[in-house]
Amino acid sequence: MDYATLAVLSGIPQDDVHGAVGLPIYATAAYQFENLEDGAQRFATGEGYTYARVQNPTVAALEARLMALENAVGAVALASGQAASFAALLSLLRSGDEVIASPGLFGGTVGLLNQVFGLMGIKVHFVAPEVEAVKAVLNEKTRVVFSELLGNPSLELPDLSGLAALCEAHQVALVVDNTFGAVGALARPLEQGAHVVTHSLTKWASGHGSVLGGAVLSRPTDLWQHYPQFTQPDLQGRVPWETFGPRCFLERVRNLGLSLGGMVLSPFNAYLLFQGLETVELRVERASSNAHQLALWLQQQPQVAWVRYPGLPGDPAQARAEQYLKGGFGSMLTFGLEGGLKGASRFLSRLELLQAPNVGDARTLLVHPWTTTHARIPEAARRAAGVRPEMIRCSVGLESPGDIQTLLEQGLAWVPVAT
Ligand SMILES: *Cc1c(COP(=O)(O)O)cnc(C)c1O
Repeated sequence: MDYATLAVLSGIPQDDVHGAVGLPIYATAAYQFENLEDGAQRFATGEGYTYARVQNPTVAALEARLMALENAVGAVALASGQAASFAALLSLLRSGDEVIASPGLFGGTVGLLNQVFGLMGIKVHFVAPEVEAVKAVLNEKTRVVFSELLGNPSLELPDLSGLAALCEAHQVALVVDNTFGAVGALARPLEQGAHVVTHSLTKWASGHGSVLGGAVLSRPTDLWQHYPQFTQPDLQGRVPWETFGPRCFLERVRNLGLSLGGMVLSPFNAYLLFQGLETVELRVERASSNAHQLALWLQQQPQVAWVRYPGLPGDPAQARAEQYLKGGFGSMLTFGLEGGLKGASRFLSRLELLQAPNVGDARTLLVHPWTTTHARIPEAARRAAGVRPEMIRCSVGLESPGDIQTLLEQGLAWVPVAT
């Protein structure tokens, strides 16, 4: 079935008691057992419900919908995007392993790699997400190559198919943070050969800036046969690869992230995210069209020194965007103002649009990454991540494009024009 159909029909549980159309919220902590054997069986197999830290029917419905939308072998929903990246990495890494990651990753991911995994005896190489650069540091200790669909805020698009082929040949997991791929409405890296995708559902999946959520998904693969955590017996004496097959990675994410780590998504948030997914494709199409028009318009403004948008002719990401993105070129754009930091400050001092550090919201949101999201990173690393003093990041929303232009003009009028 097509994405549009799956987005509204997948995952809805059948209500045999009331025939309700829609998703009930199960505000329950525990589930009752019929007898000793039933309880023992549920604990032994992980099938059926026991306790809401491990599984909840409302959250399970969201997971079923996510799995359908990305055509994955399964999905695990967690409390936030940060929890999703944490649990995915924790499930693949052991002390002594190495990770290759892009320097332009989301700041929280860089922090996780440096401040958590780095201290656990895992070495991280930060190199550009390009085949040659990754090849140069890849070795027999490498377990994960971690990339993002679109750099934030660099808007660089990695060579996903090239990286997937390289990882496949070396039996290394390619993990892609597909937050900017809008749960498959804009991009599906699993189809390009990535083994795992993570999501911050807080962004496009929610679409209303109202909840936090995250998810980990994987495609069918026998890669896990090459990871000792899946081929050696666990505490119950089960070999995960033999017991769960290609789902063994996600079982480990559920165990480490939820059962032991407790990074649980609330059923109420799962309910809102389930609703959000019904319109994500429509929202992405509308916001992409708005962003494309605005990027072309911004290029004509004398106060604007440069614009980056994957849909602009000649943009460094354009060729790959045509290959990997669908339904448009996304709702993220960046632009630089004349007058550097001062120009950016004057622009934001009079801007009538919202300034907030979020993306994928129904409303247009702008932020100055140099002094906010990336302010704590040393200047050289900030520049390596594609951040500039004059840069504004814009997550284009669903307002009418004419109104967004009018509201942007109020800020632009205060920016000195180069003479
Ligand atoms: C926001 C974001 C995250 C973190 O997600 P939270 O839901 O805020 O924890 C991770 N990766 C990317 C690309 C993001 O934009």
